Amino acid sequence: MSTGELAALLAGAGRTVVFTGAGVSTESGLDDFRSPGGIWDRYDPREFTFRRYVEDPEVRRRSWRLRRELHGGDHEPNPAHRAIARLEQAGRSPGVITQNVDGLHADAGSTTVVRLHGTTRRVECIGHDPPGGRPDGCGFSAPTSWAMERIEDGDEDPACPDCGGIVKSATISFGQQLDPAVLARARRMCEEADCLLAVGSSLQVRPAAGLPRLAVDAGADLAIVNAEPTPLDGLATVTVHGLAGEVLPAAVDTALGD
Ligand code: NAD
Repeated sequence: MSTGELAALLAGAGRTVVFTGAGVSTESGLDDFRSPGGIWDRYDPREFTFRRYVEDPEVRRRSWRLRRELHGGDHEPNPAHRAIARLEQAGRSPGVITQNVDGLHADAGSTTVVRLHGTTRRVECIGHDPPGGRPDGCGFSAPTSWAMERIEDGDEDPACPDCGGIVKSATISFGQQLDPAVLARARRMCEEADCLLAVGSSLQVRPAAGLPRLAVDAGADLAIVNAEPTPLDGLATVTVHGLAGEVLPAAVDTALGD
């Protein structure tokens, strides 16, 4: 389908909720997980579960090294992030729900960003022996630079300065529960949407991938912009297979009459 059809759908929708995945940031130089050459070609995902992070200091050290590799560079928002922010600024979108942890939506000017998987910009105490998949920290939280400075100084597994607990990036790991309040907010936005615009997500990771389906069940149109087919293409009113940084600016410009 065409960018024109996407523009027409966006033009007719009062409330477009945008739902993004790693693919919206690849044009900013951040790898996604599942594309060839992506992060899972170089690291084993089974290693980075919440439980293993808690139990094994070596996993924590490797995790901080991966963190440095992923977010060591200066990454700028790309035209897709900016087009999404423009929709909100024009009063046509109540905000963006993202699976990404990179902070680029806010950098592009989006003000309502629901971060399902947290943020790499901060670290937090998760306690000494958190139960199940839930952090149980003392409340310590700091910018990620706090941890990076300690790692540069040779402390490969920095502990909480307040209680000595385990410090972890403020992101959701495998086996870690999503914050119920964040998920509830995302679900409400989906239920109230006229259109759910999913961008750069393989739509495979649950429960986040259930949100587009929830929006459709509540009566919204689904639009998908992704480089390759997704399992939800058959549910969509419009699907555009292409690069987000090319498709979205054109579609949003046309929809807003710019
Ligand atoms: P995914 O890797 O499963 O899927 C990304 C999808 O984006 C793929 O289908 C790919 O074809 C598509 N894509 C890649 N570049 C694109 C582009 N320029 N334009 C359009 N489509 C493009 O990612 P996901 O669905 O977000 O789920 C995986 C998990 O990865 C999420 O939980 C997320 O937290 C995490 N993640 C985040 C970042 C980040 O914050 N930038 C980076 C890697 C992974």
